[in-house]
Order: sequence, then structure tokens, then C-alpha cells
Amino acid sequence: MNAPAQDASIRRRGPALDVAVVGGGMVGAAAALALARAGFSTALLEARAPAAWSAEAEVDLRVVGLAPSSLALLDELGVWTSIRDARSSPYTHMHVWDAQSGAAIDFDAASERHDRLGCIVENNLVQWTLWRALEAAGVRRLCPAEVKGFEARDDRVQLELADGATLAASLLVAADGAASPLRQLAGIGTRGRDYAQRAVVAHVSTERPHESTAWQRFLPGGPLALLPLADGRSSIVWSLSEADARRVLALDDQAFGDELGVASDFRLGRITASTPRAAFPLKLQLAERYQADRLVLLGDAAHTVHPLAGQGVNLGLRDVAELRDTLLDARHAGRDIGAAHVLRRYARRRRSADTLDALGFDALARIYAWQSPALVAARGVGTSLLDRLAPLKRRIGEHAAGL
Ligand SMILES: Cc1cc2nc3c(=O)[nH]c(=O)nc-3n(C[C@H](O)[C@H](O)[C@H](O)COP(=O)(O)OP(=O)(O)OC[C@H]3O[C@@H](n4cnc5c(N)ncnc54)[C@H](O)[C@@H]3O)c2cc1C
Repeated sequence: MNAPAQDASIRRRGPALDVAVVGGGMVGAAAALALARAGFSTALLEARAPAAWSAEAEVDLRVVGLAPSSLALLDELGVWTSIRDARSSPYTHMHVWDAQSGAAIDFDAASERHDRLGCIVENNLVQWTLWRALEAAGVRRLCPAEVKGFEARDDRVQLELADGATLAASLLVAADGAASPLRQLAGIGTRGRDYAQRAVVAHVSTERPHESTAWQRFLPGGPLALLPLADGRSSIVWSLSEADARRVLALDDQAFGDELGVASDFRLGRITASTPRAAFPLKLQLAERYQADRLVLLGDAAHTVHPLAGQGVNLGLRDVAELRDTLLDARHAGRDIGAAHVLRRYARRRRSADTLDALGFDALARIYAWQSPALVAARGVGTSLLDRLAPLKRRIGEHAAGL
């Protein structure tokens, strides 16, 4: 790993690099790899090195459901096979049901002529695998490195690091997470709303097998998902009000399992064991712009969405593919990859796609929070109808898959 002070080439004047990616989470690391593989000289700056993943260690508490579009991108980048073989859990079925009306909707890979709907993988495994692939792809990794400021000039963007080092690139890619210091430095505001909820996560053992199915029950307080893990356990994402999340976090394992069993309607039987729990605040946040002078936003720096659709990182990886294609087209046309008119294409396409998705997930969160008996009944009818409308259901499935 290169420390900033050791990488003399990075200190030279002028835009030594095509792209500087800030943030080495799943999205930033994938962006750096995709751009390097496309032939752009790329550096990745990350404040904290990811923990090494090990098959012997407990399954990371943070897992994500990767859609087929994300699996295809990771495959193209040459990392999917090692992630899949290390530890992953394909799911072939999704069952979503409404606690109040009892209506349900099912998605099935076989009936859509796919071998899976997606794969559950550990965040740490994805990040670590990408991180290791960066070196072989010729990406300059600077870690620990924290960007303190930047200045866009006519032909480059000049970055200033916390240790006083500087670095220049044609384009700055901000993948520095939901709080994105770079977005703030660029003066880009955000819109959205705080759900005043926390997602409680844990891995649980259940009496009955998960049947390679992603289960999601919409409760009046928020959705509860049980995602299938490779070792037979399920990973839960339980969205609760702040007060309920605090209460549930403080329960002992037995009481937690009992309450979770009731919340899941004992669909997988009793909860027989649980790992320690953690909780994450939930908010809808969309950057007002995805672009500033010689800068683009991607991943959670650009958008955070409710986890009910399990799409946050999938949207981020679609940002990556669009950015790579945009920059490749610009290079083939002999254009400056940091020019405003080049970045506009990426920003326009991804912001409108992400906005539609984010608002769609937000609408679902609102609809499933309805409590009045008339609205609950209408929701039940709508859910059952949708389950029977095969063409519409297929369209929804294809959209979620990123096809
Ligand atoms: C409970 C929960 C469940 C979820 N489930 C799913 C799911 O099933 N499917 C799905 O697609 N998504 C899911 N998501 C969303 C997904 O986890 C996020 O969208 C994704 O992790 C965002 O990745 P990122 O790389 O954009 O940001 P981050 O992971 O936040 O990475 C940002 C990186 O930038 C670094 N950084 C920040 N500032 C600086 C700086 N100044 N200089 C250098 N480095 C810096 C940070 O150290 C960090 O490593 C879920 C989210 C939650 C909370």
C-alpha cells in the first residue's frame, strides 16, 4: 500500500493522473478498478484501510443483496468469481407480505428464466476483494489519505491531503459516502427526509431453513427482511422507530429472538440464536447535482435510499458503469474527460434514474406505513392484484435486477 509521502510521482505538478477517486468503499473501489481497467490512470484515496476478510472470521454483520446488474459488473471487473467462491448466497425466490392485510407478492427466478434473483454477500468481502484487485490493475492506492480540500482549474483539479501532500488529476470522483465531505466542499446541497428509523441488523439461526429465499414482512413500524446466508442462517434488516430500535438493541438474546419470531410471523419457525446486533440510521438523501467543476458524485455520496428494496449499492454500481462508459466515449472522441459537457451526460442520466428509484422506494415506505383500515384494505387489494399481473410483475423484477 502506498503512503502518500512515498509516492513521488503523485506529487509532480500538472494533471499526472486521469482520475482521482476519493473513498474506497464498495462503490469507490469498484469505480477505481473499472476506470483503471478501461485504461485511465487512476488513484484511489481512502481514509481507512478495509479490514482483511477471512473465511474463518464470523460473517460480516453488514451484508448486501447484489442484483444481477451488479454481479455482471463485478464479473466484468474480474472479481465476482473469487467473491462467489469465498462466501456468497444466491437467492432464487423473494416473498414479500403485508402484516396488516395479509396480501403477498412472490418473485421467482425460475419463472423469470433466471438462475437467481441476486446474491447476498458481505460488504467487507466485496470491498476487500476489490481492494486487492486494484494493485494488480495498476491503481495507486493512497491509504490512509484524507482529502481536506480541492481546487478546480482549467485543465485539472488539485487535491490537498490532510498530511500536506498534493495531487492533480483531470477528474475528481467523490465516492466518499453519505456524509461526503467532498460534496460539501463543492457546495452541493441535498434533499430528502429523515425516516426517523434505524435498521437493526444481526445474523440469526432459525428452526426452519431459509429455502434460498429473501423474506420481507411489512409491519406497521417498518419492514423486516430475512436474507439467506450461505451457512443456513438469515441476516435480518429490521427497520424500527428510533425508540423501538433502542429497546430491541437492549434486549437479551432470548427476548430478542422471541420478539423477532413474532415480527417474522414465525415464517422460519422460532429464532434459536443471534449474533450481537448493530443499528444504522435511515434517510432518503439525493444530491441536488451530481456534478461540479471537474468533479462527479457517485454511490452514497450522491444518493442514499431506504433499504427496503435492497438497492443502495446496486444503484452505486450502476453509477460506476455509466461513468466508465461516459469517460470512454469522451476519450474516443478526443475530449477532456473532466470537461463539464462530458460530465453532464453522466450526471443527467444517473441523477434521473436514481431519483426515480429513490422516490419509488420512498413511496413504498409511505404506502406500507398506512394504518387506516380503508387504506390497508386498498393496499392489500393492490398487492394481490400486482402479484397476479405477470407482465407488470416481470417489469418490476427486471427493473430491480438492473436489466
Ligand atoms: C442496514 C442496511 C442494509 C443495506 N442493504 C443493502 C442491500 O441489500 N443492497 C444494496 O444494494 N444496498 C444496501 N444498503 C446500502 C449500501 O450499504 C450502501 O449503499 C453502500 O455501502 C454505499 O457504499 P459507498 O461506497 O457509496 O459508501 P461508503 O461505504 O460509505 O464508503 C465511503 C468511503 O469513503 C471514505 N471517506 C470518506 N471521506 C473521506 C475523505 N475525506 N478522504 C478519503 N476517504 C474518505 C470512507 O472511509 C469510506 O470507506 C444497505 C444499507 C444499510 C444501512
